[in-house]
Amino acid sequence: MKVPSSENRPEDNDKGFFLMVEGAKVDKGGHGRNLSTVIDEYLSFDKVVGKALKFADEQKNTLVIVLSDHETGGLTLLDGDYKTGTVMGQFATNDHTGIPVLLYAYGPSSQNFRGFFRNFELEQKIMKLYNSRLGKKD
Ligand SMILES: [Zn+2]
Repeated sequence: MKVPSSENRPEDNDKGFFLMVEGAKVDKGGHGRNLSTVIDEYLSFDKVVGKALKFADEQKNTLVIVLSDHETGGLTLLDGDYKTGTVMGQFATNDHTGIPVLLYAYGPSSQNFRGFFRNFELEQKIMKLYNSRLGKKD
């Protein structure tokens, strides 16, 4: 997982910016039925999301959207123990599934991302916001 370098800071662009960060190894772990890969990537991804939320809190004009484009592996967590830091899980498949995925939106206009919608509608919602910010019609 890479984040922009300090020399090329997207927040310095006066037109705003769109930054996409992918935790691709979650998918890889699901395909490989590898629980430790999934957990390691989620922990790494969680740190990045934490930084994005902190940035949004500081800037007050940043929308953070966290989502998955699909689920992979049909992972079921069977048991876990916070004290020992262990978790047991079982994968139903090594492929993508049709399980609905969650979306988390935080910041201005986050209310536009409530409810159930198909994944292709996300682009439409983002472009609508983007165009309204630039004064364009849909
Ligand atoms: Zn995949």
